[in-house]
Amino acid sequence: MSVLVYIENWNGKFKKSTYELVSYGKRIAAGLGGELSIISIGNVDETELKKLGAYGAGKVLSANTDMALDDKAYAALIAEVANKSNASVVVMANNSTGKALAPRVAVKLNAGLVSGVNGLPLSYQPFVVSKKAFSGKSLLQAEITSGKKVITLSQNTAGVEEFPGDVTVEPVDVSAVSGSVKVLSSDVQTGTILLTEAEIVVSGGRGMRGPENWKPLEELAEVLGAATACSRPVSDEGWRPHHEHVGQTGKVIAPNLYFALGISGAIQHLAGVSSSKVIVAVNKDAEAPIFTAADYGIVGDLQEILPKMTEAFRKFKANA
Ligand SMILES: Cc1cc2nc3c(=O)[nH]c(=O)nc-3n(C[C@H](O)[C@H](O)[C@H](O)COP(=O)(O)OP(=O)(O)OC[C@H]3O[C@@H](n4cnc5c(N)ncnc54)[C@H](O)[C@@H]3O)c2cc1C
Repeated sequence: MSVLVYIENWNGKFKKSTYELVSYGKRIAAGLGGELSIISIGNVDETELKKLGAYGAGKVLSANTDMALDDKAYAALIAEVANKSNASVVVMANNSTGKALAPRVAVKLNAGLVSGVNGLPLSYQPFVVSKKAFSGKSLLQAEITSGKKVITLSQNTAGVEEFPGDVTVEPVDVSAVSGSVKVLSSDVQTGTILLTEAEIVVSGGRGMRGPENWKPLEELAEVLGAATACSRPVSDEGWRPHHEHVGQTGKVIAPNLYFALGISGAIQHLAGVSSSKVIVAVNKDAEAPIFTAADYGIVGDLQEILPKMTEAFRKFKANA
């Protein structure tokens, strides 16, 4: 009853979400009374791989390769490693990579798949997991009845836990697997905080009134070290880029702190942000639905409140 966790790297480095996945896998392995193995694909040096030991990795199988992300080839490799390590549960992130790979891996392993699991299994025998459904309006419990199981974990729902211990790194032979995608060039964005990885997100809606008013929101984000996001109409209008759009049809995020500025709180918006630990809303309409989802709310005009908030956080940070 061993567990295999597939982890991604970003230019050879891991992120907090990687450690969450590894420690999540460790807890599942403990629940099943089995071992945990990690499969890393890509160029990651041994020092970085060994950092996983602090989160219970135990054994890291490293497929050190230049092969670009190719769903078909990666899924074949993960399934092969899962078979060799006799894994009964394969775990990956519920991000765009995990969502693309998990169904392929599940088919190859003849495994049941549940994506977007939010936390540890509710029970191990039977293997029952929970996830949000109907745009986050309901919580669904699903039993995976097949012998092999594949699950993708929603970020920030299990937390990072430390399990210091020894870790071994073993190479994985990738000679039999070849990708059919060749990356010719890539421009790496630097300086901005990745929305899906951000601890704090400052998000604006139609209440911002237009793209020309975004400067104060960006200033608040800068002071807080936050990523910026927006509601769907804002990106539809072209006020902000589409990759910032959160919600049912956009990115699903779960930061520790989410600022909803001039956002009404429609169900389709909340579907993407309701897993945030703390939601702060600013809206001039005291009846706006966002206030039912928010932990803290300010009723008032953003034009007036936003600069005051930024100034207050700036002072707080300077004195911290
Ligand atoms: C199938 C489907 C999928 C969808 N998917 C998504 C999705 O993924 N993400 C998403 O966001 N939406 C999505 N929507 C749209 C969603 O239903 C809402 O229309 C949208 O979220 C509203 O965006 P908003 O809150 O920015 O704008 P509005 O609903 O127009 O709200 C603006 C808010 O700003 C407040 N306001 C105005 N001026 C000020 C001011 N000066 N100071 C303070 N507050 C002010 C208003 O009181 C209001 O509450 C989807 C809709 C459908 C049908």
